[in-house]
Amino acid sequence: MAEEKKEAPELECSHCGTTSELTPVLKYVYQGEEKTVCVRCLPMLIHG
Ligand SMILES: [Zn+2]
Repeated sequence: MAEEKKEAPELECSHCGTTSELTPVLKYVYQGEEKTVCVRCLPMLIHG
C-alpha cells in the first residue's frame, strides 16, 4: 500500500492577506472568480 501524501496548500486571505497558518481561510467563488477569505474577514463580507 502506497502512502499518499496530500499537499495542503497554504491559502492567503484576499482581503487582509493573512494565511491559513494563522487563521482558518475559506475558498469561495464570486462572479466566477475564485477568492479566499479568512474567518475574520468573513463577517465583513456578509455585511457588505
Ligand atoms: Zn482576512
